[in-house]
Amino acid sequence: MIVDNSLQEVKKRENALSIIKYKVENDGRSSLFDLTGLSGGFIATPSEINLLETYVGPAIFEEELQAVGKEHMGGDKILPVNRTSSGILATILTLVAEDSNVVHYLAELPAHPSIPRSCKLVGANYFETDVFEEFSIPENTSLVVITGSTMDHKVIDEGEFKKVIEMAHEKDIPVMVDDASGARLRTVVFNQARACDLGADIAITSTDKLMPGPRGGLMAGKEELIDKIKVKVNQFGLEAQPPAVLAMLNGIKNFDGDNLINSFERKDELFDLLNEKFSNFQKTPTGVMISPQGLSKELNIENELSDNDLAFVFSFILLKDYGIITIPPVSMPGASATIRFDLSTSDAFKLNLNDLNKKIESSFKRLQEAVSNEDECREIVFTF
Ligand SMILES: *Cc1c(COP(=O)(O)O)cnc(C)c1O
Repeated sequence: MIVDNSLQEVKKRENALSIIKYKVENDGRSSLFDLTGLSGGFIATPSEINLLETYVGPAIFEEELQAVGKEHMGGDKILPVNRTSSGILATILTLVAEDSNVVHYLAELPAHPSIPRSCKLVGANYFETDVFEEFSIPENTSLVVITGSTMDHKVIDEGEFKKVIEMAHEKDIPVMVDDASGARLRTVVFNQARACDLGADIAITSTDKLMPGPRGGLMAGKEELIDKIKVKVNQFGLEAQPPAVLAMLNGIKNFDGDNLINSFERKDELFDLLNEKFSNFQKTPTGVMISPQGLSKELNIENELSDNDLAFVFSFILLKDYGIITIPPVSMPGASATIRFDLSTSDAFKLNLNDLNKKIESSFKRLQEAVSNEDECREIVFTF
C-alpha cells in the first residue's frame, strides 16, 4: 500500500501542491486544468478589499448578502458560516436534544460525515436511509434531514423531497436540508424548487461547490430558527469571517447557471468518447467519474496496490503529465478517492473534449506500465 494513513495523505497533498506551484511558476496558470468542481475562488475588487479593514465593510457585505443570499436560497434570513459542516453542526447543536432521534433521507448513501458526527456529539440517535419506502419518522424525533444532492452528485427526486417535508411537518418537526451542491444542481440542472420554497425550515449550501466562491457555508431559512442557530454559531466561532463573506457575496453574484447546463450536455460527449476504450466510467450530472474499484476493474493487471492507491497514482499522473487537477491528489485525509472530471468550472471550458479523452487514455497507459512496480508508483505520488 502506498497511501494508507492520514500522515501519508497529508504528504501526498503537500507533494501535489508543490507540483501545482511549480507548474504555475514555470508554465503559468493556464497550464493547469482544475476539474475538481471545487475550484471556487476569491472574487473581490481592491476597493472592496480596502473596506475589509474597517468596520464599515462587514456591515455592508453582510447586509448585501442578505438580499443576494435570499435570492439564491429562498427563506427569510441568511446566515453565512465557516463551512457547510459548521452550519450542520450548529443546527444540530441548536435543535437536537440528547437521546432524541434524527432521521435522514438521501438519494444514495453515504451521508456527509458531519451529520452523523454532529448527532454523536449531542448524544442523539441517528438513522439514515436511501430507500424511500423505508423512511419513517419515529416518536421523539427532533430533526428530519434531507440531502438535496449527495457528495457524488446524486440528486433527490423532488416528489420524495416534498413528501418527506410533509411527513415531518405533520408532526411539527423541523427539516434541515443539506444542499451543499444541490442548491445549484437541483435547481438549475433538474429544474427543482429551492429547498426553502419546498418548505424546508433550514437549508445550507457550500459556496465553493459548482460556483466561484470560497469554501464556506450559506444557511437560509425561517427567521426564528436562524436567530437561534446564530447564537450557537457565534458562541462556538462557527460564523464566516468578513473576507469570506465578501467572497461569498461575489461568488453568488458571478454564479452562471448556463455553465452547469452546458456541462450537463458536454459530459455525455466525454462519456461516449471514454467508452470507446473504457467501461468503468460513470456519469455525474456535470461530468464523469471513475471510482477506485472501477479503476481496478478497468486495469485488470496483477498488482500489490489497493484500489485507492491506484486512484492516487492515476490522478498524480494526470496532474504531473497534463496539469489536470482532480480531487484525490489535493484532498484532505479521509476524503473519497473517486476521480471526478467536472466540466462545470471555467478551466473545463478551455479543454477540447477529444484532447481531454486522449490525455486520460495516455495517463491510463502510463498507469498500466507502472502498476506492477510499487516503487515507481510510490515515486509518482510522493516525489516531485
Ligand atoms: C461538500 C459537502 C458537505 C460539506 O461541505 P464543507 O464545506 O466541506 O463543510 C456536506 N454535505 C454534502 C452533501 C457535501 O457535498
